[in-house]
Amino acid sequence: MYLKKLELKGFKSFPSKTDIVFENGITSIVGPNGSGKSNVLDAIRWVLGEQSIKSLRGDKLEDVIFIGSDSKKPMNYCEVVLTIDNKDGILDIDYSEVSIKRRAYRSGESEFYINNKPCRLKDVKELLLDTGIGREGYSIIEQGKIDEILSNNSNNRRKVFDEACGISKYRYKKQEGEKNLKNTKENLDRINDIFYEIE
Ligand code: ATP
Repeated sequence: MYLKKLELKGFKSFPSKTDIVFENGITSIVGPNGSGKSNVLDAIRWVLGEQSIKSLRGDKLEDVIFIGSDSKKPMNYCEVVLTIDNKDGILDIDYSEVSIKRRAYRSGESEFYINNKPCRLKDVKELLLDTGIGREGYSIIEQGKIDEILSNNSNNRRKVFDEACGISKYRYKKQEGEKNLKNTKENLDRINDIFYEIE
């Protein structure tokens, strides 16, 4: 599994459609200060489901949408598509190439797509569990991340190891199962109350 392509449109400092193709091997992004290098990483984290605008260096949701410049009008929406090579089948989906798309509007609406089919954030999260590239993943090490991991409490630090060992998926499934059990129990209690009232 590796990242093949990143397509940006209206994301932060990229108003026009910009395609970045990652060839085999190491890709370096170089440029002067403020030219948008970190915005490329922000785009990858955003399309993979990052919900914390603060960690994308913004204050509000619409801060990821191009704000306008002297020569270009502000955009009403932004879109990022990340294409991942999945020939080795690490992503649990029957496609050798997987594209994840996220689109957001100034109105606050946000949409996710997997291979151009609309889906929920939950679907993206589940697809990426235990691959290391999800929201809790360790494959993007931004400034300060190593310090954060080292100084975190042991529970939070453990999440990184859980992800690497492939445990996150099972922990997530267990939590989902417990949530369903709790809901079912509440429903049963409600039904019992109704029975009690009817009798
Ligand atoms: P450095 O080398 O200093 O870390 P960088 O190349 O990583 O810089 P970024 O931090 O990625 O640069 O980009 C900063 C630029 O992105 C700033 O010029 C900022 O104005 C621009 N920018 C951020 N958000 C938006 C937005 N919503 N619309 C337009 N431009 C934006």
